[in-house]
Amino acid sequence: MATVFLDLDGTLIDPRPGIIGSVVHALTALGIAPPPAEDLEWVIGPPLIDSFARLGAPDPAAALDIYRARYTDGAMFDLRIYDGIPQALQALRRGGHRLVLATAKPHVFATRITARLGLDRHLAAQFGPELDGTRNDKAALLAHALPLVGADAAASVMVGDRHHDREAAQANAMAFVGVSWGYGSPGELFGAAAICDAPSDLPDVITAVASGLPHADS
Ligand SMILES: [Mg+2]
Repeated sequence: MATVFLDLDGTLIDPRPGIIGSVVHALTALGIAPPPAEDLEWVIGPPLIDSFARLGAPDPAAALDIYRARYTDGAMFDLRIYDGIPQALQALRRGGHRLVLATAKPHVFATRITARLGLDRHLAAQFGPELDGTRNDKAALLAHALPLVGADAAASVMVGDRHHDREAAQANAMAFVGVSWGYGSPGELFGAAAICDAPSDLPDVITAVASGLPHADS
């Protein structure tokens, strides 16, 4: 049994319409011609303030404010849960694993989403950055979360879809399971302990990885 840290966007939920729609809205409001929506999927996962800088916003913090006004006005619920995720989380819990959310989305937004979707009842704790950007770096987020939940990195698994998730796990000496249904390219997940191709496979894949961890109870 392991403590399993779960990414949210691109791993448990597909937040594309709400996030990309709000990014396009912010860029347009600032007079910046937005790229086509299909060319903006890379903004899903990393801290948005960095993405607004890459997109040419002269004041990324101002762009983020406009984004958040739209996002919290309802766009945050413009998403879908990937098929099979609720069942996978339930099976993981039944298998004795402890589930913890570790998202780059501010926790004040993430907890509203997991509550709306009924995912919160599977989660022992939920971590995300502060609105001011504190712990935007996922490695810092995991380092913060580990002692607060009393977890041993050597008995923990990070599950996510992007290289930020993999790098954060590696920085904390934690096993990483990549999921292929999100927004990462296959190369981003290179070095994962395992790649999972369907939510219904998550319980078995995570249990197999956890059984090889140095400190996991079996
Ligand atoms: Mg993600």
